[in-house]
Amino acid sequence: MASHIVGYPRMGPKRELKFALESFWDGKSSAEDLEKVAADLRVSIWKQMAAAGIKYIPSNTFSYYDQVLDTTAMLGAVPERYSWTGGEIGFSTYFSMARGNASVPAMEMTKWFDTNYHFIVPELGPNTKFSYASHKAVTEYKEAKALGIDTVPVLIGPVTYLLLSKPAKGVEKTFPLLSLLDSILPVYKEVIAELKDAGASWIQFDEPTLVMDLDSHQLPAFSKAYTELESALSGLNVVVETYFADVTPEAYKTLTSLKGVTGFGFDLVRGTQTLELIKSGFPAGKYLFAGVVDGRNIWANDLAASITTLAALESVVGKDKLVVSTSCSLMHTAVDLINETKLDSEIKSWLAFAAQKVVEVNALAKALAGQKDEAFFSANAAAQASRRSSPRVTNEEVQKAASALRGSDHRRATPVSARLDAQQKKLNLPVLPTTTIGSFPQTVELRRVRREYKANKISEENYVNAIKEEISKVVKLQEELDIDVLVHGEPERNDMVEYFGEQLSGFAFTANGWVQSYGSRCVKPPIIYGDVSRPKPMTVFWSQMAQSMTARPMKGMLTGPVTILNWSFVRNDQPRFETCYQIALAIKKEVEDLEAGGIQVIQIDEAALREGLPLRKSEHTFYLDWAVHSFRITNCGVQDTTQIHTHMCYSNFNDIIHSIINMDADVITIENSRSDEKLLSVFREGVVYGAGIGPGVYDIHSPRIPSTEEIADRINKMLAVLDTNVLWVNPDCGLKTRKYTEVKPALINMVSAAKLIRTQL
Ligand code: GLN
Ligand code: ZN
Repeated sequence: MASHIVGYPRMGPKRELKFALESFWDGKSSAEDLEKVAADLRVSIWKQMAAAGIKYIPSNTFSYYDQVLDTTAMLGAVPERYSWTGGEIGFSTYFSMARGNASVPAMEMTKWFDTNYHFIVPELGPNTKFSYASHKAVTEYKEAKALGIDTVPVLIGPVTYLLLSKPAKGVEKTFPLLSLLDSILPVYKEVIAELKDAGASWIQFDEPTLVMDLDSHQLPAFSKAYTELESALSGLNVVVETYFADVTPEAYKTLTSLKGVTGFGFDLVRGTQTLELIKSGFPAGKYLFAGVVDGRNIWANDLAASITTLAALESVVGKDKLVVSTSCSLMHTAVDLINETKLDSEIKSWLAFAAQKVVEVNALAKALAGQKDEAFFSANAAAQASRRSSPRVTNEEVQKAASALRGSDHRRATPVSARLDAQQKKLNLPVLPTTTIGSFPQTVELRRVRREYKANKISEENYVNAIKEEISKVVKLQEELDIDVLVHGEPERNDMVEYFGEQLSGFAFTANGWVQSYGSRCVKPPIIYGDVSRPKPMTVFWSQMAQSMTARPMKGMLTGPVTILNWSFVRNDQPRFETCYQIALAIKKEVEDLEAGGIQVIQIDEAALREGLPLRKSEHTFYLDWAVHSFRITNCGVQDTTQIHTHMCYSNFNDIIHSIINMDADVITIENSRSDEKLLSVFREGVVYGAGIGPGVYDIHSPRIPSTEEIADRINKMLAVLDTNVLWVNPDCGLKTRKYTEVKPALINMVSAAKLIRTQL
């Protein structure tokens, strides 16, 4: 019985690659320094997997930035604007594509399926010239081989690569990207030939797009591609990997009939229907790579349950053809539990990060081969049992309250237009009211104060005074700027999810549980391990303090349940919606306490609502229903005069606009400035939005300061499709990452643009 790992995190257990990259980009270290750190990381990962006993160890899953960009480099598909002149692609061209340079902007980045990882989108067209321009896959294979480790080189499959790309600038939007298959396959053939020469016996193609809803012309592209590669692949074993969801029966049929392919990999954590497909028929003599160890989460595998699944599969495909694997690359989980020295030991026993998952995969394979590590299995069974019965996981009161929410509706009784009237009587705002999204710049000093308070180095009193001073500065500034609805600036928050997670029960935090988000950027999601409740108010103290400093309305600032859920590692022992409802109830209490404390405007951010949209369209309605319901639960009990705002990042929500309306917020502020047209087109097409709406009037992601005219122009464009009395004027998102020297002039211009237009109405 063999074991296989789909892919492994590349950042290193302590984010070594991040620091090496950033130091190189800052010109503080050399290319050789960076290459050394990278090589050391690769070597240690390969050795670790070899020592654990893994048979099929992946190579070429390392990346200096992104595996899709690596494929673009392999294919020499460098967009013209980077003035690449041929030859092997080096750091300068590679990082220019990833991050832009002084004269050319970066390529677009977008989310990798439904993960929080972002890849660099290939830009292709009829004139793209392909050539074999990065030998990285072969180099890495040889590097491991030199250590005596025969790896499985991993390539992004040709069809997935094309399906993830977009037409280059100037190319028709309708350009059929799959027509480039014939142009890229010759490069793939060259790579395959070199890998064969170097001694590779297996090769892995990742084709995760096979789990998507594919059009009728897309599935045949897979058959065509692998038929075309068949002779190049002869003499090699080939595994085609799918992950992140079920494959449809049609995709399963196509996949398992591919020419030249000897094994198929499936995500059996998310793919419960795939399991049934396999049981009802699997091609004779082919290998099944059974992804039973979850690469998307941090929970220890239920080994006994996995053995049952694997045993059933073994009777379908045969003992020598079953390979135990991970559900997807482990790059979507944290790296190594060994560095979590402060984590509670009971909770720790329930967890497995990438390094521990490698050991689990191997233990499963050995157990199936009759060499069960009894001690390991019984420790695992004990941990599973303790997780099931631990009083820190279960809070019956919360369970009851949350399950009572299902099936019933929660909605404010008064329709939004009447609520807005009632609110306006109290708030007395001008037309085109101005506001900001919540955070103000976070200075080095501020971060220091928070850090020292956390480490008990400064007293509570000193901490409160420092934060109070910061809030007062931010309030004064907003009054000077003449902003209408103020914020306190969020100086006490390090992160919009962590801040709440730390105060809610049922959450745990890691010291090093980082997951790559894009390039050198990593996130450290909290772990939701138990029923969620709110022991005491979380934000009321600061919001009341801020409100006491001004006569203008001060927004209470909360993170919504769906965003907290989507940016955490979520428990896998109950459905996601159940956990979301629990968080909603906790936030509801906070909303009610803020209201009782005299806060009249409360913003509940749902920055990540769209992010949680399932990959398959058939699951969208169900998700949107419970997600939107959860949001409404948080504020269904407030008075008509209390104004509920929400905020969303990403402008890509035309497809979910009806769900956004169904959130029934009084005001929504949304990112917009990078794609004016997209959002406005919805309203142009006749969608009626009766609530307040503030499409961001300038891009806070850039240091650029927008002029008054430019902002006024934007506002006018919006007024062409939206009612004057629903439009708000605000930036795109929070100002946390900007400098005051950028924020002040930008906001001055924003307020004067609003005032200018008010005079013209
Ligand atoms: N209120 C948060 C802030 O202003 C919202 C951040 C976000 O949308 N990502 O920082
Ligand atoms: Zn935002």
